[in-house]
Amino acid sequence: LPTACHDQPKGRTLIVGSTGFIGRFIAEASLNCGRPTYLLARPGLQYPSKAKTIKSLLDRGAIVLHGSINDQDFMEKLLKDYKIEVVISAVGGENILDQVTLIHAIKAVGTVKRFLPSEFGHDIDRADPVEPGLTMYKEKREVRRLIKESGIPYTYICCNSVAAWPYHDNTHPSEVLPPLDRFQIYGNGTTKAYFVAGADIGKFTLKTIEDKRTINKSVHFRPSCNYLNINELASLWEKKIKRTLPRITISEHDLLSAAKENLIPQSIVASFTHDIFIKGCQINYPVEGPDNVEVSSLYPDISFKTIDECFDDFVIKLIEHSPPLDNAVKAVQNAGVDDGIATSNPLVDVRQITATYA
Ligand code: NDP
Repeated sequence: LPTACHDQPKGRTLIVGSTGFIGRFIAEASLNCGRPTYLLARPGLQYPSKAKTIKSLLDRGAIVLHGSINDQDFMEKLLKDYKIEVVISAVGGENILDQVTLIHAIKAVGTVKRFLPSEFGHDIDRADPVEPGLTMYKEKREVRRLIKESGIPYTYICCNSVAAWPYHDNTHPSEVLPPLDRFQIYGNGTTKAYFVAGADIGKFTLKTIEDKRTINKSVHFRPSCNYLNINELASLWEKKIKRTLPRITISEHDLLSAAKENLIPQSIVASFTHDIFIKGCQINYPVEGPDNVEVSSLYPDISFKTIDECFDDFVIKLIEHSPPLDNAVKAVQNAGVDDGIATSNPLVDVRQITATYA
């Protein structure tokens, strides 16, 4: 595949969590760059979709190693035997503290040139969600502190929201189509956020790992082309499906109540949704100071996929997954009464969702 990083040096890279939502984007980007790509997979894949992911990455040249990051001896041996230079972790929300053992192993071996812990969301030292999201942030903060104390070179990827409809109860929104019945608008719908296609999270993450300018820094993804509020997102989707949908308001109180229910993972997502679309946690600070850098300023010549293009992809999926229209609907459409796209939302993730998100 054509890559934006073909001219980069190619150190041996270990990716933890490649069967997961974010990890897969990272693994694919690493392979796109032609890097020697090692995947750590926990033994006993429970879901056929995960086994399929591993198989497709294997077919593209990845080397799969079986084990878990919370076995320090195993991790030290692996890092030494395979001469791993870069470690990227994308473990899910419920396994953030497993990285403590991984950090001890990286420190003991002493040859890893860059470690990217499982971040891939907000700047967790700045954002301050309500519980239960806060607990996850506290764990991510603990991991940051340990990395600093250990003196391991690191990069934190603060990529903001995945480009998709931001459902407040779904951890992996880009696996589901935007709404086809009604929009749930958070608050007055005017607080903006940044939306980044999954493949771009992978692509730009891979750009940072050999870049001296990103050592020991937080890299913020703020693509100006994808800076929208939820009202604008709804209008864009309406344009794509050529229909208008009713909009109902999910108030701040509604989101806080959903968070308070403490259902995992939905309440975690509700607390982040509150932080993003009510409190403006992605946009209420400037990217400045010696420890922060914005990704577009590092790579001004590399473009982001626009949210408009991402929504076009959803329309294609919608058409591909739609059952053939029955004759009555066809007749209505032929009469020109409704030339919009009207079906139920077919892309519901069948995998169990886990406690993650930003
Ligand atoms: P998933 O739950 O989808 O995947 C987690 C992956 O980590 C799986 O491959 C899992 O393996 C692996 N894993 C977990 N524990 C271990 C371990 N001890 N050893 C080895 N592998 C392990 O995670 P997500 O992709 O949802 O989350 C990854 C990161 O991205 C999180 O920090 C999350 O907060 C963030 N995120 C950000 C989003 C955003 O919108 N910005 C959206 C979603 C996530 P196995 O297959 O064995 O379970």
